[in-house]
Amino acid sequence: MELRDQPPKPNADWRWQQSDVDRVQEFRKCIECFLCQNVCHVLRTHELKHQFAGPRFLVRIAGLEMHPMDGVDRSRFLKEQAGIGLCNITKCCTEVCPESITITDNAIIPLKERVVDRFYDPLQTIWRALTGTSDKDAG
Ligand code: SF4
Ligand code: SF4
Repeated sequence: MELRDQPPKPNADWRWQQSDVDRVQEFRKCIECFLCQNVCHVLRTHELKHQFAGPRFLVRIAGLEMHPMDGVDRSRFLKEQAGIGLCNITKCCTEVCPESITITDNAIIPLKERVVDRFYDPLQTIWRALTGTSDKDAG
């Protein structure tokens, strides 16, 4: 899994909004208790451990993805290796987090949206074709 910090995007601006800081700091509160992994039915009941990264690791990826200086597109990794599509947003992980991290709403759903934008939005596909925008997949 590609979970390393990445070099900042070219010409990234070091001036951030407070909301950008708050968003990333929420994910940094994780104490790695793994309660969220333990209650997730995708892992616990369906035992899809080899197909689904689970909420703790998705929180970690969200912390990288939403960092204002980050310049890597992890959408292919999220779709194909982390198996984010297997999460069906039951929010059990959010309910048990002792650090009150809003795992599902603030980490997982925005990551799902990035995957949908990248792979299933026809307008974005046309735009990338027209502009020759290259993807920088981390996977
Ligand atoms: S919201 Fe997703 S990650 Fe969290 S417990 Fe439910 S299926 Fe698992
Ligand atoms: S339950 Fe919360 S603190 Fe514990 S591992 Fe999951 S995200 Fe981190």
